[in-house]
Amino acid sequence: MSNEQLRQEKSSQQKVAVIVPCYNEEAVIKESYRRTRAVLDRLPQQTEIIYINDGSFDQTRNLLNSLADADPEVKVLHFSRNFGHQPAVTAGINHCDADLAVIIDADMQDPPELIPELLDTQAREHANVVYCVRRSRAGESFFKLFTAKAFYRIMNRMSEVNFPLDTGDFRLIDRKVINAFNQLHERGKYIRGLISWVGFHQVPFYYEREARIAGETKYPLGKMVRFASNAMLYFSKKPLQLATGLGFISVLVGIVLAIWFTLGKIYGFSNAEVGWTSIMTSIIFFGGVQLLTVGVLGQYVGILFDEIKARPEYIIDEQRNVTTANKQKEAYHEKI
Ligand code: UDP
Ligand code: MG
Repeated sequence: MSNEQLRQEKSSQQKVAVIVPCYNEEAVIKESYRRTRAVLDRLPQQTEIIYINDGSFDQTRNLLNSLADADPEVKVLHFSRNFGHQPAVTAGINHCDADLAVIIDADMQDPPELIPELLDTQAREHANVVYCVRRSRAGESFFKLFTAKAFYRIMNRMSEVNFPLDTGDFRLIDRKVINAFNQLHERGKYIRGLISWVGFHQVPFYYEREARIAGETKYPLGKMVRFASNAMLYFSKKPLQLATGLGFISVLVGIVLAIWFTLGKIYGFSNAEVGWTSIMTSIIFFGGVQLLTVGVLGQYVGILFDEIKARPEYIIDEQRNVTTANKQKEAYHEKI
């Protein structure tokens, strides 16, 4: 059967999209496309691949444009600068008109060969979300493995939502979830958290995470810390409660010490005037507690500041093969 016939045959079927954020991924794009295309060609559904070029300054732009020229099922969005991984995935979801979408990294750490199994799981379990849980992670440093494991566990304790552990953005979502996601207007999106938050029927899928096929990680330590603290601040008010608790304990300690020293003066069992060290220690300690709590408060005020400005999460410079409107924008304008 020719490609054209196959396409017509598929036209009555469901459509599956693959969303791929790319930041300076010239080393992996060709291979990534080849493997993804090979998998999609074997599916009975209609397919599309949405690449988001997140302000790359290497050959990513040209490589993606030539893919879009050669393959009409390849959509490309070029951002005007680097907005970050989460805004890139958000743009992919906003511009997806498929019934099902798989979010995947460009570096093939999450193998596209698993897509048919994800689709099978989705159909079998009537799931709205199939989230992929990493059983193992090849090619990562001990530091990354340890901090990631710790992060997901702390996040779970701190947050009001229950997140699946050891789960990245690699997952399959259906139209209901895509529509729900497109209604969310917060700017600092922690996507894996929000997809848990929207609810519906979510099922796990266990897999072995592979090493990057080429190139370097685009998540250096600074970006990782920002990602983690953003997730924490957007999904938990626990830091504020902890700050309040800390203040409360400090006040109690202060009252007890004041009573102790007063009684000591009256009954002569305290030698308080000797204590330069104890005064300095408590000034530094309580000064620290105050700065810390003000700092925590400041983090939330910072988020309010960013959210209230309501700037778009990303700006698109150019797009290829994209005819669908930005769904999030539409929903937003309908609302206001
Ligand atoms: N990425 C992005 N913008 C960024 C950083 C990363 O679009 O600012 C993309 C990157 O190209 C990759 C995915 O997000 O497809 C995950 O990044 P990476 O593989 O470097 O992270 P790691 O797997 O090392 O945590
Ligand atoms: Mg990676």
